[in-house]
Amino acid sequence: MTPGDIDDALTRHPPGERRHIVSPANNAIKAIRALDLKKNRAATHLFVVEGARAALEALSQATAPLAIAYLDEAAHESHVMKLAAATEDSGGLILEVNREVLGKLSRRDNPQTVVSVYRQTWHSLLDFGSGDTDRLLALETVRDPGNLGTILRTADGFDVRDILLIGEATDPYAGEAVRASMGSIFAVNLYRTSLADFLDWRRQFGGLVVGTHLSGSEDIRTLAWRAPSLIVMGNEQKGLSAEMSAACDRLVRIPMSGRADSFNLAVATAITLYESRR
Ligand code: SAM
Repeated sequence: MTPGDIDDALTRHPPGERRHIVSPANNAIKAIRALDLKKNRAATHLFVVEGARAALEALSQATAPLAIAYLDEAAHESHVMKLAAATEDSGGLILEVNREVLGKLSRRDNPQTVVSVYRQTWHSLLDFGSGDTDRLLALETVRDPGNLGTILRTADGFDVRDILLIGEATDPYAGEAVRASMGSIFAVNLYRTSLADFLDWRRQFGGLVVGTHLSGSEDIRTLAWRAPSLIVMGNEQKGLSAEMSAACDRLVRIPMSGRADSFNLAVATAITLYESRR
């Protein structure tokens, strides 16, 4: 399917249309499956969420699915009815499917009863740090979707809403990242940029830029945080690049006493956000 076909199959229909689907060869079902591919997500700006919990989280942020597929046997469960009604009210597509079709849509070992489709939201770099937020988070070339999803969830848990992806980052709208975010993908504001554009932006940013680095000169526990502070985390393999390290006001290290030579990126982000809030 081309990106145009995918978009048509999921967005061109009478508002609030309901269909009962028993064949995995149905176009709308094929379109949802095609969103497994990064290039299709990039071209359509659509993404897929598995499970009712994340869809209800989205609804609590006033975001209804563009399309929803749910197991016909679960049609009378209250959360399914709520999600289907919200999709109908916003003019989306409602697909009641049998177990075989749902099995084709789900990537989990124990398939969820609900799979829904949303439009991606990206914010402009011009708006990054322009609100009255006291903490911002930037990730340089984050590569692991599970790490990224966990970081979105963790940032949401610390009420850090603005997250900038710098360089060749993994897709936060990939299934694994969305799953790991546990619904927080809908609660945070995502930005993305190249390293060069970030360095330009950084020149006009009046806050404190704190890089986290294994050989940072400052112990994170003694840093004098101020608002706003931008926390910068490095790549899983290479850490912070030399250009990025040079652009930071401070380079902090999280003290380690065991044998491991570094913390996992998501764990280091959690520790840093916690410290920045103490
Ligand atoms: N080999 C990489 C290096 O030399 O930086 C390890 C990268 S580490 C797995 C991923 C990121 O987590 C780092 O770039 C840094 O942002 C953060 N990090 C992990 N452990 C850290 C520590 N002890 N102190 C400061 N930052 C840490």
